[in-house]
Amino acid sequence: MTTKRQRLHRLESRADRFERLVAQALRRAIRSGTKNLGLVVEPTTYQVRNARGAFAINMVAAAPQPAEPYVSVDDLAAIDAAWQSELRDLILPELGRTVVEGAHDAIEDLVAKVPVLVDARHAAAELYVSQAENRLRGIGTDLWQKTRAQLVAGMAEGESIPELSKRVRGEIASSNVRARTIARTEVVSASNAGALAQMQSLGEEGPAEKEWLSTNDARTRFSHREANGQQVPLVDRFEVGGATLAFPGDPTGPPDEVINCRCTLVWNMEPKARLVAAGFETFQEEEHTSGMIALVPRDPPTIGGGEPAEESHLTLWFLGPVDDIPEELQQAILAEVGFRSEQLPGPLLANAFGAAVWNPNGEDPCVVLNVGGNGLRDIRDEVHQGVINAPDNVDSNQDTAKAWQMPEQHQPWSPHVCLAYATDPTALIPEALELVGPIEFDRVRVAFGSEVHDFTLGGE
Ligand SMILES: [Zn+2]
Repeated sequence: MTTKRQRLHRLESRADRFERLVAQALRRAIRSGTKNLGLVVEPTTYQVRNARGAFAINMVAAAPQPAEPYVSVDDLAAIDAAWQSELRDLILPELGRTVVEGAHDAIEDLVAKVPVLVDARHAAAELYVSQAENRLRGIGTDLWQKTRAQLVAGMAEGESIPELSKRVRGEIASSNVRARTIARTEVVSASNAGALAQMQSLGEEGPAEKEWLSTNDARTRFSHREANGQQVPLVDRFEVGGATLAFPGDPTGPPDEVINCRCTLVWNMEPKARLVAAGFETFQEEEHTSGMIALVPRDPPTIGGGEPAEESHLTLWFLGPVDDIPEELQQAILAEVGFRSEQLPGPLLANAFGAAVWNPNGEDPCVVLNVGGNGLRDIRDEVHQGVINAPDNVDSNQDTAKAWQMPEQHQPWSPHVCLAYATDPTALIPEALELVGPIEFDRVRVAFGSEVHDFTLGGE
């Protein structure tokens, strides 16, 4: 699971990378198409080479003498040829990989142990790449035809070499800008197409809905700002502006809603599917058979499929098996701890400062929220005093009550709130990290098995 911010950021850096790749490929193509033109030193005579109006540049005063005395503007077609091979060898394979990367991203969102079903030979990837080829081919063709038209026009005006070069440079610059824009748009489109294809191929195991996620910064279109959070079934299309799009960057949509889009997708899993996908353990259904004293947060931090809100707590003391604690002692502990809790100042504002995986390879692997703050230890000590004093308040069976001892606690005490038990808790860390921040505890809970008593810190 990655955070939304991380997802958007990852897409952006992928777009940066691809943009550079395309710009370099275009530069190489231009160089290979114009290297002959570079030999033009003096345009003394532009000669009409044939009746169709093709022009030739007479090469004079070139030192050393060029091998080809005449260079036709049609030689600029080499730009196109070079671009097409850059496209085939470098750019399209990279776009294919981007589709697959998008599929991997989607899986990551699931926290799931599901197979990645989209690879380079997957129909969705192949379809995407072949359609992208049609869109990208035009860059080279356009560039050489427009450059040629500029040269022809310039020559007809009798322009000097510097003037002609300026025309060519201008044309190259604007097609560079176009190419970069197209590159960025393609990356977003390819990533999202791959992600959607992956989720669709999961069928029943996959999410029921897709959600539009926008960057929502100054560069975000108004219509995409509005689309943020829109949820539709996987097979449906989003309504964005006046258009309908299957995913952000959908190339079948109008350019207005597609070009330079940086939006992406998140997924809404049915709770059950998500639970299974993440390998969550269904320990919640287990019967509670031990005792504990804990702090309870006012707004329980939870992650989907993890510990339910009503179970959320920060353990102060583990009391061991309930069966070992005499009934009278339980009552005495309740009274002592309850009284002391209500005398304490409250509520307690603490700080959830991080998230961690506990027992990754052992029993009960889980993801926890680390909690710190002044006052935690004081409450723990006060509660402990209550447990120590409790046997004195037991009327009968004093011996049994006094014989009970608090089990050994984990050392050192490491205040935490458990968020989820899962076979692969590492995958839940990003989601857990989103819960980092202030956390307020307003109650002390004493639980003997499933019998739970809450006392308000500071009383009512
Ligand atoms: Zn967008």
